[in-house]
Amino acid sequence: MHPLRVLLYISIVIAVAVAWGFGAALTHAGVARNAAVVLAVAAFVAFMIPWTGVSLWALRRARDFDELTDRSVDVADGQIEQPIADHAYHGELDELARAVEEIRSMVVRQREAHDQHRAAMDEIVSALGEGLLAVSPRGRVVVANARVASIFRLSGSLVGRSFLEVVRQQSVVAAVDKALGGAESTDRVVIDERQYEVRVFPVAASPEIAAVVLFIDITTLERLQRIRKDFLDDFSHEVRTPLAGLRSAVETLDAGGLTREQDEQMRQVIGRQLSRIERLVRDVSDLNNIESGQIVLHRKPVALRSVFAELSDNHRFTLAGVDATAYADPARAQQIFSNLLDNARKHGGGDVVVEIGSANGEAIVKVSDRGAGIPPDEVERIFHRFYRVDRSRSLPGAGLGLAIAKHLVALHGGSIRAYNRAEGGATFEVRLPKADG
Ligand code: ADP
Repeated sequence: MHPLRVLLYISIVIAVAVAWGFGAALTHAGVARNAAVVLAVAAFVAFMIPWTGVSLWALRRARDFDELTDRSVDVADGQIEQPIADHAYHGELDELARAVEEIRSMVVRQREAHDQHRAAMDEIVSALGEGLLAVSPRGRVVVANARVASIFRLSGSLVGRSFLEVVRQQSVVAAVDKALGGAESTDRVVIDERQYEVRVFPVAASPEIAAVVLFIDITTLERLQRIRKDFLDDFSHEVRTPLAGLRSAVETLDAGGLTREQDEQMRQVIGRQLSRIERLVRDVSDLNNIESGQIVLHRKPVALRSVFAELSDNHRFTLAGVDATAYADPARAQQIFSNLLDNARKHGGGDVVVEIGSANGEAIVKVSDRGAGIPPDEVERIFHRFYRVDRSRSLPGAGLGLAIAKHLVALHGGSIRAYNRAEGGATFEVRLPKADG
């Protein structure tokens, strides 16, 4: 019971006793019994009226105080949704209630800010292209984005699961163990045929998170690096042969003592090797421009016969079929067919036949020769840059012509393929969009 209530009851008992004593004293003094009772009751009421008022007021304060205490305890316990109604309190309690309400709304604001921050972090973590995993000191997953689930082909939430159950990669497990011991590490692992750089680092600032693991997919990067390396290897290999030829020709010239005829021969060798280098540099730069999208096609309706008419100055071939009009860049079309005619002469041999036709909205050109054809399992590979069938090694060329042709055809939205004909020789078939197609 509240002490104020106890005090009220005690004072009622005292008042009753005092009134009783007062009535008894009056009777003793000879006052009539009835009158003494009336006077005693009057004294009791006179005493009780202000006292009851004060007590009730105090009780109400006490109740308010109890209620405010309970609400404050609730706030401290985290039940902050319900506001504290200050108007329900009185006097100085009102001020206290307002202060507690201020604290409550501050906590609400902080919780909202924290929730927003957390939601933003979750959004960032899940939008990350890389896999991100946070592990607790006891080896449980605390944070894992969708990428981690897809890397390890797992479904459902990973949070709460044992880290070992999620990451079954021994080297990653060892790296996390090291991180739990405070050491950072970077490793390369292969998961499902993809290469990952796995970075593991300890987190000292959080009691919840002991280590963070990042899975960075470097498959494409590795592939690009390999392509770059292959390219440089191929390029230096290709440039070495003409350079060696040049050097030996220059040295022979330097040594002197050559007949006029030999001197002329040496000069011709130098000229040929220089053009080989020039052609290599031109092809590499062309390929680079095409691959990096720096080439802009100036397309217009082009009668294919007219393209071959211009090419006939430098190439020998027989033209057959019905003319077709392609929607193409004339200079680039010439470059494509010039490469094919060059190859037919160099690698093919015999009569070269060019057949023009059209079908399904496409202009079709077939360049056929009567050579040895292409080894069947290399039909696809001859379009790769620097690729040459072994038997062509002694012939000039760096294996770039078909790669360039393929890129240029693709830029036009067309296609190119090679096949061997039953009657012997190879055919290169180019399909380009027709102008009216
Ligand atoms: P290059 O002619 O400079 O060697 P290309 O990229 O034009 O390079 O051709 C790649 C390879 O494809 C050639 O080295 C050759 O082995 C093969 N090839 C191309 N055209 C023909 C053809 N008409 N007949 C047989 N093989 C060919």
